[in-house]
Amino acid sequence: MKCSVCGQRAQVEVRRRNQAFCAEHYRDWFVGEVRRNLRRHRMIRPGDRVLAAVSGGKDSLVLWDTLTRLGYEVTGFHINLGIGDYSRRALETTRAFAAERGLELVVVDVRESFGLTIPQLAWATGRAACSGCGLTKRYLMNRVAQDEGFNVVATGHNLDDEAATLLGNVSHWQTDALVRQGPMLEGREGLARRVKPLYSLTEREVAAYAFLAGIKYQHEECPHAAGAKSLLYKEVLGRMETRMPGTKQVFLEQYLKKIKPVLKSGLPETEVELKRCERCGQITTGRVCAHCKLWERAYTRAKKRGLLPEDASFDPRPVVKRV
Ligand code: SF4
Ligand SMILES: [Zn+2]
Ligand SMILES: [Zn+2]
Repeated sequence: MKCSVCGQRAQVEVRRRNQAFCAEHYRDWFVGEVRRNLRRHRMIRPGDRVLAAVSGGKDSLVLWDTLTRLGYEVTGFHINLGIGDYSRRALETTRAFAAERGLELVVVDVRESFGLTIPQLAWATGRAACSGCGLTKRYLMNRVAQDEGFNVVATGHNLDDEAATLLGNVSHWQTDALVRQGPMLEGREGLARRVKPLYSLTEREVAAYAFLAGIKYQHEECPHAAGAKSLLYKEVLGRMETRMPGTKQVFLEQYLKKIKPVLKSGLPETEVELKRCERCGQITTGRVCAHCKLWERAYTRAKKRGLLPEDASFDPRPVVKRV
């Protein structure tokens, strides 16, 4: 197999595109794809301040690497979830990546900020770890962006993630989620713009880039990931992709191009009134936001079970550290 650009021996095959590349031209192709996504959706505009959510895994570190290569000044944001050794290694990996490249990193430790780790939050609320974790991460990303003066939050979602989310939403006909799904969600007052510059690149392509660019990332998965429905959707799509290369791409891109606009125009306008949460001041639809409600509930139960002292009270202000 030969590189489609220079004719040298190819190292990576991109089957869905019927192309193959040597190491150098693969990196160029990959960064070029990210640039194309950024431009096509006007994800980052002049004067924007960008915060990239970095977990320490391949997707987020590749995101940070490519945005930096493209000349954007991007600050990393890592959340220490307190999930034992997994979280300790995630922080170490992220720190090392930032230090090697002289990049700015901000860190929030969930336990230091809110008094409980994610597993403790799950135990106290009786809900699956991923449900409280996802809510807390979304809250922190938006809140820290606001507090620290960033108007854009970039995340490392790849094509496999996006196609799996789409399959999940379609399987249950979640129309609200379907119309929101996309590579960019425009911001508004109190809400940062959310962008996914890797959305058109597969997990395998991201991993190949990480390897060829010498990025040291955390390989281990979060121990709570096992059994997640998203893995099942990925497996189903993966089997389809093996038989029919390009399936994931067509599934997502054609949805965004052909179906989403029709769906959006066919649904009744549901302009919900946005308010400020009485507890934390963040944008919400109710009196108190979902994040504050969840943590207040966790505090009540954690106190009853002796995990927190009787006089402990939930403070929604995160402790932000620059490292
Ligand atoms: S798998 Fe669940 S608990 Fe682990 S990081 Fe992801 S959302 Fe959080
Ligand atoms: Zn080449
Ligand atoms: Zn709140």
